[in-house]
Amino acid sequence: MPKSEIKKLKDEINRLRKLIIKDELTGVLNRRGIKEKFETLFKETLYLQGKHKSKRKIEIENISVIFIDIDDFKKINDAFGHAAGDKVLKVAVEVFKKKIRGIDLLGRIGGEEFVVVLAGATENEAYEKAEEIRKHIQKRCLIPKNKNLKITLSIGVASLKKSKAKDVMGLISMADKAMYEAKTNRGKNNTVKHSEIG
Ligand code: GH3
Ligand code: MG
Ligand code: MG
Repeated sequence: MPKSEIKKLKDEINRLRKLIIKDELTGVLNRRGIKEKFETLFKETLYLQGKHKSKRKIEIENISVIFIDIDDFKKINDAFGHAAGDKVLKVAVEVFKKKIRGIDLLGRIGGEEFVVVLAGATENEAYEKAEEIRKHIQKRCLIPKNKNLKITLSIGVASLKKSKAKDVMGLISMADKAMYEAKTNRGKNNTVKHSEIG
């Protein structure tokens, strides 16, 4: 096969690889993408906790996950229409993006569920960040046309060190569990740390 054909194929593979890890609506990582990128970061972190620490340029000794679920999203769709719901998802993502750093990961892992992976952050730092995001979303009217539309978030956070999670999906599921506590036992619109619920 000529070199130009090989190059074309490689470019096409790269284009498709990017597509399959991206959420079409919001442009952030999808579940597959979060899993893939998070796994790389996770391995790096475990490696850094080991003896090779000093060889690395950036030291990441902990990772925290913020699990965000929009409250009563179904009601938003029902009251304002599916297109308004879509718009809320997109604008919420823009807010999340502004609040995180370039090395952090952001993904949409379900309909109205998002995961933020904070490289290097402790559980307390993740909690502070989550609260900053939650309060910002609550204050801000996400769609100017629909002034009555109020968005609130239930959030769970978990850190690698405190939770002693064994793998990426384990850490995400601990943050999810903390979110569930925020949602079901604390009346929504709040953030719960996984270490609080044990
Ligand atoms: P809770 O406070 O308990 O989280 O309630 P909820 O309504 O947010 O959660 P529930 O799981 O009952 O409903 C989620 C809704 O999200 C249902 C589904 O129609 C909607 N949804 C999922 N994906 C999309 C999407 O891409 N766009 C829009 N507009 N809605 C979506
Ligand atoms: Mg949900
Ligand atoms: Mg919800």
